[in-house]
Amino acid sequence: MTDTAPAKPRRILVVEDETIVSMDIQNSLRLLGYEVVGAATSGPEAIGKADRTMPDLVLMDIILKGEMDGVEAARTIHARLGIPVIFLTACADEKTLERAKVTEPFGYMIKPFEERELHSHIEIALYRHRMEKKLRESEERYSLATQGANDGLWDWNLRSKEIYFSPRWKSMLGYRDLEIGVSPLDWFGRIHPADREQVEKNVARHLQGETGHFESEYRILDAKGAYRWVLCRGLASRDGDGKAHRIAGSQTDITDRKVYNPLTGLPNRLLFLDRVEHALRRTRDNARSFGIAVVEIGEVKTVAGSLGHVVADGLIVQAARRIQECVSAEDTVAHFGNDDFVLLIEEASDGKQAALAASRLHRELSRAFLVDGQSIYATTHIGITVCTRDHLHPDEMIRDAYVAMQRAKGGGKGRFEIFDAKMRSSAVARLKMESDLRRALESGQFRVHYQPITELKTGRLVGFEALVRWQRSEEMMFPKDFLAIAESTDILLPLESWVLRESCRQMARWRLPGGEELTINVNLCPGHYTDPNLIRELDDVLRATGLNPRRLSLEITESALMENSEAVFRTLSDIKAMNIRLHMDDFGTGYSSLSYLNRFPIDSLKIDRSFVGNLGLCEETWKIVQAIVNLGRNLDMELIAEGIENVMQLRMLQSLHCHFGQGYYFSKAMAPRDVDALLAGPLPWMVLFETGAVRAFPRAAEAG
Ligand code: C2E
Ligand code: MG
Ligand code: MG
Repeated sequence: MTDTAPAKPRRILVVEDETIVSMDIQNSLRLLGYEVVGAATSGPEAIGKADRTMPDLVLMDIILKGEMDGVEAARTIHARLGIPVIFLTACADEKTLERAKVTEPFGYMIKPFEERELHSHIEIALYRHRMEKKLRESEERYSLATQGANDGLWDWNLRSKEIYFSPRWKSMLGYRDLEIGVSPLDWFGRIHPADREQVEKNVARHLQGETGHFESEYRILDAKGAYRWVLCRGLASRDGDGKAHRIAGSQTDITDRKVYNPLTGLPNRLLFLDRVEHALRRTRDNARSFGIAVVEIGEVKTVAGSLGHVVADGLIVQAARRIQECVSAEDTVAHFGNDDFVLLIEEASDGKQAALAASRLHRELSRAFLVDGQSIYATTHIGITVCTRDHLHPDEMIRDAYVAMQRAKGGGKGRFEIFDAKMRSSAVARLKMESDLRRALESGQFRVHYQPITELKTGRLVGFEALVRWQRSEEMMFPKDFLAIAESTDILLPLESWVLRESCRQMARWRLPGGEELTINVNLCPGHYTDPNLIRELDDVLRATGLNPRRLSLEITESALMENSEAVFRTLSDIKAMNIRLHMDDFGTGYSSLSYLNRFPIDSLKIDRSFVGNLGLCEETWKIVQAIVNLGRNLDMELIAEGIENVMQLRMLQSLHCHFGQGYYFSKAMAPRDVDALLAGPLPWMVLFETGAVRAFPRAAEAG
């Protein structure tokens, strides 16, 4: 036995009404290695036998006896059974041959013929049939696939410069078959002017072989004059030397996905911009005005963090529904993502109407949301802008509404604000500040000032807190004016890293005249405690400056512990393991709970200066400070009081045995050269300590 079975002989049906000729042909076929599955002498007999035996090919005499001739029989066999037919003819008239042609024969043979001719005709016919079948199958597959995907197809012959667009390609844009020609302009001429260059560039890059395939998302004009979003993909065919001669692909309508938010099904930014553009145009025509409102649902991030994204999504969906119920049918409610909704309010000719709309929204959104069995109360901030003739672009209006919303947020819980031009100028100032800040670090405009920390019992200097300053040309800027912006523009981490390095470098040089070592406290923002590079960074800085880690303390705020407590816990433990100390800054102002304090490796509590400032003024504060001191002592922590401004505060803290303190009573934060001077001479506050004299806090401003 061989492993490969010999090819099966091709099976042929012979239709010939002259018996002698039929026998002759059958003999030849057998000699040529074919199998004769039968012979027929009339049309109906031929159809019946073909049906039963399903031959690979039929040899068909054109002129047959009876009603049905060979042409007719061949048409039925080919059409019904898909079997190829070769016509045999001795002397057919023109008309008969014409009819035969219509049945798409796979060959003609003029009788008599030689065996060799018969062989080649049969082989060619079988080959052509196989090829055609394959092609048909793949075409069918192709059209099935594309019908399923609902795509339009295009096929661009780069030599003839003609493009075939499938009927679906045209109907997608609302055109009938003949309404679109075959030139590239029929396509590119309809692409949105803002998108066209990009699409042409992408095609060119693929044709030049720079990309594996062509792909672009763009807007294209439909028959009604509106733009639809499509995703277009294509692949080039190349000749031997890589030159593209053809590129073909598909076009999918993605308008819905592109312009609606998948979670709420509301229009997204793209569609909203389009609507605002229309509204602006109408406004210019009929002098009516409209409003834009930005609504931020404040609680979404917290909900996502604590109850999970499913609940947060549920909250958003419900909020979306409520917002829609608050506005009229002509208005547009868009969902820009996460917790931002933006509304186009058609009837808002003045601030009063806008304010009414805002308070309605506010009322509806402040009722509890019931999501997944939980009641959630959301804080909403709303910013509104009323369209004026100054607005030229939808983007500007939306931006103004956002500025007003930010202002509302600054005003505390659940407020709304209506935009006025002053807000724009402060927003512009903020933008300028952002870009100045980005440059400030590179151009060395930041400084570190150092505020002395003393032992309250003795007045002895124990260390400094490093506080950042920004020398912005002539003006000295304080953290409250720029830290929040630095945080939102991502420069806070690099800025703090610089402060850390700079203050450690300074500290490594500074000693008291008696040689006692001083410590340095550096503030790090919550984001720094979740930065995976922090430990390596600390290690680098200590190594580079040679500072003993015991002389470095890091200040952390309560909010940092809340943010991502697992990750922060690990970082703090690593910091402790390096022998660096940890201070809890502004203690008492956050949401600190005792469980936090117990759990995290904190060495000291810094009593916030708001408490210290009220000492002696408010009985309640005295009790709070007492409680904090007791708490710290019970947890074996040191206590540092911030913001000591007068001797009464000092005495009260001393009486509580609070260990350390800082404040204007001793000194403001000072530039490094002033620290040099401080360390060289006797400490100015010491004499007052020793004599117990009352000292007014110095009013001199911090020197640059
Ligand atoms: P903080 O860490 O609580 O720093 C103490 C602040 O209180 C400093 O303000 C200091 O100058 C001020 N202060 C000290 N004594 C008195 C006083 O007797 N009376 C009054 N009214 N204020 C006093 P500063 O320098 O404006 O810093 C404010 C805050 O900025 C700091 O509060 C700290 O949270 C933050 N900060 C400063 N530098 C950095 C830094 O490099 N990174 C981070 N994350 N925050 C920093
Ligand atoms: Mg601090
Ligand atoms: Mg503080």
